[in-house]
Amino acid sequence: MSDLSGYFDYNATTPMSVVAREAWHEACDRFWHNPSSLYREAGMAKQELERCREEVADHLKIDEPERVIFTSGATEANNAIIRYLAETREGKLLVSAIEHPCVEAPSQSWFGGDRCHEVSVSSETGVIDLGEIKAQLEKSTVAAVSVMAANNETGTLQPWQELSELCRAYSVPFHSDAAQWIGKLPSGELESCDFLTGSSHKFSGGKGVGFMVIPEGSDDFNGLIGGPQEGGHRAGTENLPAVMAMVAALLDRSDSHLNEVATSSAASRDSFESKMITMGMMLIGACGPRLWNTSMFVLPHTRNLKWLTRLSQRGFSVSTGSACSAGRGNPSRVMSAMGLDYEEMGRVMRISAGWDTSSEEWDALAAAIEEVAADLAQ
Ligand code: PLP
Repeated sequence: MSDLSGYFDYNATTPMSVVAREAWHEACDRFWHNPSSLYREAGMAKQELERCREEVADHLKIDEPERVIFTSGATEANNAIIRYLAETREGKLLVSAIEHPCVEAPSQSWFGGDRCHEVSVSSETGVIDLGEIKAQLEKSTVAAVSVMAANNETGTLQPWQELSELCRAYSVPFHSDAAQWIGKLPSGELESCDFLTGSSHKFSGGKGVGFMVIPEGSDDFNGLIGGPQEGGHRAGTENLPAVMAMVAALLDRSDSHLNEVATSSAASRDSFESKMITMGMMLIGACGPRLWNTSMFVLPHTRNLKWLTRLSQRGFSVSTGSACSAGRGNPSRVMSAMGLDYEEMGRVMRISAGWDTSSEEWDALAAAIEEVAADLAQ
């Protein structure tokens, strides 16, 4: 594996872990047959696929493994869920203003116009306005509520547990895109969400695979049509090597390991942030609960791309985190929901560390940023 010491873009993607690679290789050697075929080897592949489903269900404390459906990633899973909700439920979708585009775009597309209600977040904490959701549930017909578990740009954690309880009280389904939560924090009571999605490459399991959890008895749920796979809920030959790699990576991140990482890494991240504040950076969403690995801030001067290029020359990979960073495209919806103006959005930088990022690596990044600041100030 290449040197990861300067890699600070784990929210974008992660390298495959050793256990995931081993599982993938094993699957390519032993379980490459089509799980839907009828001979002995195919039966073994099918068995392995069902073992993986049970492992994911167990990990999420879900009693019915058949509720877990493997997909090509969280984008496909979120698209399928939003379309299903739009087609099968009356009323409007309450969706947070900071969703990933793979929830936001299908929400606009399938619910559209009057049926899609965007719920604001606090500009200080980045946390959803629960009062607004309660008021909407009280006064209007709500088809579903969709709020992500952790935000990919700011790292802000959302109160999905309260939301799932609230939705249950109104008999409204609750969907949470947990792509940035699963594998970084213990899954806790995530099973309380009716619809849930996860993405393997966010937790070192490899790209092009993920999963969704759908409620029991959703017989008419069909994410992709054209084949009987995944209990009829998602057509297409299952990518068993990718699924096996994902499950190996997921199980490798035990709750105790994640709790340890969360404590030690948050301390390194906080010390890094103190240095950034001293240098005149403005932290985004710092007053709210956040993922232990993420730090987003507005740089004091000069467009973010110049910083990113200079950091890249010094061996550090960071992200601008927003679509407007290259000076084209639309302003970031997340940044705008957090109260930033257009000019500030062009100075945003996102740092996202990994499970093994050491405090020395955080210090080295801070030193490199200081150098770049001096460079750009000339
Ligand atoms: N949801 C969130 C919050 C994400 O950060 C991402 C990836 O950037 C996705 C969904 C999409 O996941 P995938 O790449 O598996 O389609």
